[in-house]
Amino acid sequence: MLKVAVFNTKPYVEQYFRRANERFGHALTFLEPRLTDKTVDLARGFDGVCIFVNDLADAPILARLKELGVRLIALRCAGFNNVDLEAAEKLGLSVVRVPAYSPYAVAEHTVGLMLALNRRIHRAHQRVREGNFSLDGLMGFDMHGTPAGIIGTGKIGQIVARILHGFGCELYAYDMHPTPACQELGVRYVSLDEIYSRCFIITLHCPLVPQTYHLINAEAIAKMQDCVMLINTSRGALIDTQAVINGLKSQRIGYLGLDVYEEEGDLFFDDLSDQIIQDDVFARLLMFPNVIVTGHQAFFTHNAVSAIAETTLDNVSAFERGQCQNVLTCSLRRKTIEPSST
Ligand code: NAD
Repeated sequence: MLKVAVFNTKPYVEQYFRRANERFGHALTFLEPRLTDKTVDLARGFDGVCIFVNDLADAPILARLKELGVRLIALRCAGFNNVDLEAAEKLGLSVVRVPAYSPYAVAEHTVGLMLALNRRIHRAHQRVREGNFSLDGLMGFDMHGTPAGIIGTGKIGQIVARILHGFGCELYAYDMHPTPACQELGVRYVSLDEIYSRCFIITLHCPLVPQTYHLINAEAIAKMQDCVMLINTSRGALIDTQAVINGLKSQRIGYLGLDVYEEEGDLFFDDLSDQIIQDDVFARLLMFPNVIVTGHQAFFTHNAVSAIAETTLDNVSAFERGQCQNVLTCSLRRKTIEPSST
């Protein structure tokens, strides 16, 4: 039995982890704060910490965790851009993650954003509630035949490809590791520039690594079609938000769907409805009628959260037995960012 501090806990986290833990029997302590330099000392006396996407595990925090006796960092997510893996390796800290839980959850939410933006469902819902049945401004387009570009065709990108294939979209993708499953669907792997110039829908499913930081910047946006639909359910910093705002103002970007935001750490997962949002860039985004933002909920299905709890606790048990399971290493990180060949 390992003693694990579960940071950044919400009621649903506790509920699903408690239920899964009946099988594993670890000593879990649920803590509300995010892991930061200010809260790290809460980990004193624990063997491991369990953290999520917006907890911070940079080099100084990892060094402090090591001093406090922590041996295991168990990520309850797939992305690991918030953990300094080099520092963890040097300190001899093990880092494990949940590489896959339900790629369907994220892919389906991604396509949900596309459909809602295309058919203006968010605006139509408000209108009908107010007794306004006018169709002005609600015109959409057929997904069938629309060129769509998927950047990153790993587990999630592949499912997005399958769903969009079902709609009859013309599919393009960019990934340095093309997958046969996508090629069999007829997805054409092309360069990033071709994605930008050919596609009316562009959806991001690559990881956030130094090479993909602000992948969508002013230069990329300038190469896109007028009124393009841009969707990001991957990681906020794939997008230069100010450049995207400029693109929305110039109408180069006609539709924007976000489930992630670069500065989401201070916003998402909490009820801030009584507060004044201080982030002016985020507030500006919310002003556009053709933007839908959800608060990092793409993963949030019963199936995915159950699988996250199961795999995380299974990873903790494997660590206790001295086995390597879902371990993150620097070499894995390097593998995900090999230079592109397409
Ligand atoms: P994955 O590792 O299965 O696939 C990532 C793909 O991106 C791989 O095929 C890889 O070759 C490719 N890639 C790497 N660098 C690239 C680059 N520079 N350009 C283009 N492609 C590149 O990951 P996944 O499970 O499909 O998840 C994708 C991302 O989705 C994760 O990195 C994570 O950030 C995000 N995610 C978000 C949520 C959410 O709730 N919003 C949930 C889970 C995952």
